[in-house]
Amino acid sequence: MTATAPKSRKHLCADSLIRLIHETLSQVPDHRPNRVKGKITLTDAFMSAFAMMHLKYATLLDFDREARTEELQYNLSHLYRVQGRIPCDTHMREILDPVDPIELRKPYKKLFAQVQRGGQLDAFKHPVGEFKNLHLLAVDGTGLYYSGKCRCQECCVKNEGKPSEAYYHQMLAACLVHPDRKVVLPLAPEPIVHQDGSTKNDCEKNALKRLLAHTKREHPHLELAIVLDGLYADAPTIELIKSYGWHFIIVAKDGNHGSLVEAMDTLDENGQVKRLESCEDNGTRHWYRYAESVPLNKSDPGQVNVLDYVETDKKGQRHTWCWVTDLPLNEETVYLIMKGGRSRWRIENETFNTLKNHGYNLEHNYGHGKQHLATNMAYLTILAFLVDQIQQLACPQFQKALSGKPRGARVYLWKMIIQHFQSWLIESWDELFTAMIQGQVARRIQIDTS
Ligand SMILES: [Zn+2]
Repeated sequence: MTATAPKSRKHLCADSLIRLIHETLSQVPDHRPNRVKGKITLTDAFMSAFAMMHLKYATLLDFDREARTEELQYNLSHLYRVQGRIPCDTHMREILDPVDPIELRKPYKKLFAQVQRGGQLDAFKHPVGEFKNLHLLAVDGTGLYYSGKCRCQECCVKNEGKPSEAYYHQMLAACLVHPDRKVVLPLAPEPIVHQDGSTKNDCEKNALKRLLAHTKREHPHLELAIVLDGLYADAPTIELIKSYGWHFIIVAKDGNHGSLVEAMDTLDENGQVKRLESCEDNGTRHWYRYAESVPLNKSDPGQVNVLDYVETDKKGQRHTWCWVTDLPLNEETVYLIMKGGRSRWRIENETFNTLKNHGYNLEHNYGHGKQHLATNMAYLTILAFLVDQIQQLACPQFQKALSGKPRGARVYLWKMIIQHFQSWLIESWDELFTAMIQGQVARRIQIDTS
């Protein structure tokens, strides 16, 4: 077998990453009584479900149907380490439903450590002033699933008690982002559950508290600036972030932060704000107005630094933003903080959009269960996305297979992978990517007429 990836980055290619996921998930204790001989192991159920997500099957039924073929069984055993039988759709749901989702955080941490070990985390470094090792962590919520019928213990409820009562799941995602990179690095997400509150704001803020606590515990030495939308520009969230020793760049909206806008205008009238303008070679103009130690609102003594920003593009269209931050604002840093604040859109575009519209089927219902199934399936979907993102960042073979493709390259790549999966007996991901890069020799169908 040809090994084309440089040795130093092998640990960031699919064979190693999936081996690590298998090792981690094989340590999850089985919740079932250990009586049935020949039962499908929890690890095989995990790896089968992970394979379904990573191969981008749209439904559990599709996967179940094809997983019975010789090719799929062979390839699932060699590429996803499924060692015994593959559970049917109903059985997979039954096995995974009671698993505590906290167990599925573990492979995220292991994969992150691999990226760190390889020095690839430096690709996400965004130094601002004296904070040389700063990384941007964008956090935002998204919907996963909506139903008028099925309900589990974690479902949020809409129109409770009314004929239109409906159930839904949401999740708070957190990704390391960089202004100049399309690749994002998701940390383990945090489910927003029924117990989180009755309003959207309460739910997201309570989930954020858990997400930040998990992040600090799992990555205690990471120097972070948390990048958030306007929902979170309040004193309790800011104090919480600061209590962990991190920084923040949060959108402030006119409608929600009237007193902050007034305070900036008053400072401006008194000549206490600074301004900066610059123009790029392509005609894009940047305008900044900034001040430090501005009261966030009238009722709270907490103070923030405020950056107003207007971009005028080469067609003359204006786009405006305002952020609050604790990072120092000066001629050297305003551009960097603006870039950091704007990189928040990567969690909407590069993450949620990709997860929902480019193969990962995040909003599909793979089964709801009664306890944690919907959440566990979402964890495995985002884990599959993480494996692909790491490969896109650092696996030369994956990059090569992806390069030179037209628009929609990734969706094309998923299609090619599944075609190979259905047609060949494959020993490893290394072999699969080599075959895809080199191309297969066209051949006629062979029919045995004897
Ligand atoms: Zn539910």
